[in-house]
Amino acid sequence: LAVPDFGGLAADIDRIYADLQSETGGKVADYIPQLAQVDPDQFAISVCTVDGQRHTVGDADEPFCLQSISKAIGYCLALEEHGVDKVHQHVGREPSGVAFNALTLNPRGRPHNPMINAGAIMCCSLIRPGGLLADRFDHVMRTWERLTGRRPGYANATYLSERATADRNFALAYFMRENGAFPRDTDIVETLEFYFQCCSIEITAQMLAVAAATLANGGVNPLTRERVFSEVTVQHCLSLMVSCGMYDYSGEFAFTVGLPAKSGVAGDLMVVVPQLLGVSVWSPRLDELGNTVRGIEVCNRLVELYQVHPHATS
Ligand code: GLN
Repeated sequence: LAVPDFGGLAADIDRIYADLQSETGGKVADYIPQLAQVDPDQFAISVCTVDGQRHTVGDADEPFCLQSISKAIGYCLALEEHGVDKVHQHVGREPSGVAFNALTLNPRGRPHNPMINAGAIMCCSLIRPGGLLADRFDHVMRTWERLTGRRPGYANATYLSERATADRNFALAYFMRENGAFPRDTDIVETLEFYFQCCSIEITAQMLAVAAATLANGGVNPLTRERVFSEVTVQHCLSLMVSCGMYDYSGEFAFTVGLPAKSGVAGDLMVVVPQLLGVSVWSPRLDELGNTVRGIEVCNRLVELYQVHPHATS
């Protein structure tokens, strides 16, 4: 068994969950109107090991939008389709050091990395670029279905409200086009719509833990045994999750927790413990940098209790 005392881990997760009920710091994202309407008290933690042991506590079956977590998988899809060299002709792989939606590109006129808005928009442009938008979206939905073992939902209202208020993302896309960053023949508006749609895919904490476990398991879903991504794709994705996955808190998170993780402004978070397990947290209140307050705290507690920091030597 990957985690021999899984009962002990489950009990610890339940204790952390109970402890953090009283943590009501932060506030829900409100720059996308539909996200502002979410009940801020909702909270779920879920774990799934690489051999399929699972435990979930809280609002486990309540759907939430992927938001930025979609970026990690968009990057994987671009890598699978084009390989690492081609993808990184269009997007960098250094942390940006600024907010996820900052109007900035790297010195080569490319987005800094795939885990922030500009880079994720770029990766979307690389997913089946010649295809119909409907087929491209189906491809992403099917990928999430294979990662989680269940069919995801879709929050059309969130998509519509994001699209209607997306001046910054439009600005980023035009800025990238001005710099010749996109592949030839990219339709910018279509690419942005595709990006917003990917952000509006809905899953549950339970499903997200399975997706994280699929990454922990080198790209093979631990429940269905299906290979979703190649090992090298997962390796690259996890590397960038370590350096860039937690917005402008990524350096601090790499120092304190050390694990590959990706957060989204829905208050969602996935954490990968390679070869061992996936963890998901969902709690909509965010800190100033856009990370789920309780989610960060769950990670802090887990590294306190278990030696999961990859560079821990004691
Ligand atoms: N869809 C959101 C945006 O583009 C995603 C941002 C996020 O989760 N950080 O602003």
